Amino acid sequence: MENIVALCKRRGFLFQSSEIYGGLNGFWDYGPLGVLLKRNVKDAWWNDMVMSHNELIVPSGAPGTYEMTGLDCTIIMHPQIWKCSGHYDLFHDFMVDCRETKKRYRYDHILGRFVLAPSLATHIFVTTLETENTQTALEDAALKFFGLRKKDLDKLQWEGEIMSLPDAMRSAGGAANVLGPDAKTPGTLTEPREFNLMFKTTIGALGTEEDTAFLRPETAQGIFANFKNVCDSTRLRIPFGIAQVGKSFRNEITPRNFTFRSREFEQMEIEFFCHPSQSAQWYAYWRDRRFAWYIEMGLAGERLQLREHGATELSHYSCGTADIEYQFPFLPPGEFGELEGIAHRGDFDLRSHMEGKLVKEGCELVLEKLPNGQPKHRGSGKDLTYYDDLTKERFTPHVIEPSAGADRATLAFLCEAYQVDTAPDEKGQPQERVYLKFHPRLAPIKAAVFPLVKKDGMPEIATEIYGELKKHFSVFYDDKSAVGRRYRRQDEIGTPFCITVDGQTVQDGTVTIRDRDTLKQERIKRDELVKELQSRNF
Ligand code: ATP
Repeated sequence: MENIVALCKRRGFLFQSSEIYGGLNGFWDYGPLGVLLKRNVKDAWWNDMVMSHNELIVPSGAPGTYEMTGLDCTIIMHPQIWKCSGHYDLFHDFMVDCRETKKRYRYDHILGRFVLAPSLATHIFVTTLETENTQTALEDAALKFFGLRKKDLDKLQWEGEIMSLPDAMRSAGGAANVLGPDAKTPGTLTEPREFNLMFKTTIGALGTEEDTAFLRPETAQGIFANFKNVCDSTRLRIPFGIAQVGKSFRNEITPRNFTFRSREFEQMEIEFFCHPSQSAQWYAYWRDRRFAWYIEMGLAGERLQLREHGATELSHYSCGTADIEYQFPFLPPGEFGELEGIAHRGDFDLRSHMEGKLVKEGCELVLEKLPNGQPKHRGSGKDLTYYDDLTKERFTPHVIEPSAGADRATLAFLCEAYQVDTAPDEKGQPQERVYLKFHPRLAPIKAAVFPLVKKDGMPEIATEIYGELKKHFSVFYDDKSAVGRRYRRQDEIGTPFCITVDGQTVQDGTVTIRDRDTLKQERIKRDELVKELQSRNF
C-alpha cells in the first residue's frame, strides 16, 4: 500500500488536503491525473447506468424494461428531510472522552479486562484499542499501571474475559474503575455521549437554532424529495431509476485508510422505483448488474466479492441488502472493505417523507410518536404515491438502492491496477517495471505521442498527430529523454497506448503503437489512428 500511496503523490493522483498547513485529517485532493481518473470512473458509471441504457429492450437478468433519468440536488436541504429520514436521530456513534489525555474514542471500539489491584483493594478495567493482540496489549497496560516488569506477569490477577467497554460499564455500573487506553489514572473517561455524523452549518445571518442545517451525508434523500417533481414533469412510468452523483459529508470519528474513509467524499447513487410485487426480482437484478459492472471495469480477480447480508445485519426497513466488497491491500488478510451497498428499502423512504419518521413495531413500520401522541418528526404531508393509469392502481413504490462511493471505487481501481513486472530497457537489459493496468476507459491519459528523435521532420509529424488525437481523447505529448524512459513514465500512470513517430513514418506515413500490457508494437497508418484507438475499448 505504501508504494501505491507514494506513486499517487509522486505522479499527482492524490494529495493530502491543505498539505502546506499540515493537512486536514479525512480530506483529500485529487491531483492532475487523479481528477481525470475519478472523472472517468464517474463518467463510466453515468454512461453505463443512465445514458446508454436502452429502455426499449429487456436487459439480461431484468424482469422487464425500465427507464433511467438523473438529478443534481443541493448539498444543503431542508433540515426536516434528515429528521424524517432518520439521520437526525439515528446517524450517530457513541463516544467517550478522556479528561486526562483529551483523546476521544468510539465507545464500542474500546476493549478491556478486569484485573485485581491489591494496593487499591479493587478491580481495575484495563483497556486498549488493539483488536488483534488484545491480551498482550492489556498485559502491557496493566504492568505499566502497577509499575511492574514483564517478569512479574504472573502477579496480575485477571478476572473474567476480555469484553467491550459498554459491557464493562454495564457490569461495573460506571466509568470509575476504567483505565482509559492512553491514561495514567483510572476514572478519567466520561459517560458515553452521542455524536452525530452530520456536519452542521448555519443558514443566514442570525445563526439561531432554527437556522441550523446539515451538509448531506448521502445523495439519496434529494432523490426521494424530488420523486413527485420527476413524476409530474416527465412521462416516466414505473419501473424507473433516478441517478445522482455528488458530494456527501460525514464527520467520521476515525477517518483512515487513505481515501477509503474520508469526511468529504462522492457518491454515485440510484434510487430505483418499482411495483412492490416485483421488487424482489429488481433487487436481484441490480445486485448482479452492479457486481458485473466492477468486473467489466477491471476488478476481475478474487479480491472482489458480493456479500449478501444475514437477517441480523439488515437495517430495520430492509428486506434484502448486499455489499460489493474489495480486499484493499491496507486491510488485514481475509478482510474486505465495502465499495457499494445494494439495498431493498421497501416503501420506507417515500412513506417517511409523506407521514414522518417511521419506526419498526413488530413487523410493521409505524409513525414514531411523542408521549403526547404528536409525530416525533412530521413528514411533508405531500402525496408521494404513484397512480398507474393502465392498471388503475394507486400504490407506494418500493425502492431498490444501489449506493456506490466514487472515491472507494477509484481507490480500488488504483490498487487493482498497480503491477510490477520485468521488461527490457532501451539497452535490452531486464529491468523492474511499475505500471498501472487500468481499463482503457478509466486510464487518465489514453495515448501518448512521441517523436523518436527531435529532428528529421519527426517532431512536426508528431505534433500534427497530437493535435488530431486531442480533439477526441485525453492525450499527452512527450519529446524529452530517451524513448524507453518516456514509455516507462507513461506505464507508471497507466497510459494504455504510446504512439511513436520514427524514420519510417516520414517515408510511408505509418507509426508504431505500443501496448502497455503486452509491450507489443504494431505499425499502423497514421490516418487510421483515431479509428484504431476508438476500437480499443475507450
Ligand atoms: P461504512 O460501513 O464503510 O461506513 P456505510 O455502509 O455507512 O459505509 P453507505 O451509507 O451505504 O456506507 O454509503 C454508500 C457508499 O458510500 C459506501 O459503499 C461507500 O462506497 C461510500 N462511503 C460511505 N462512507 C464513506 C466515507 N466515509 N468515505 C468514502 N466513501 C464512503
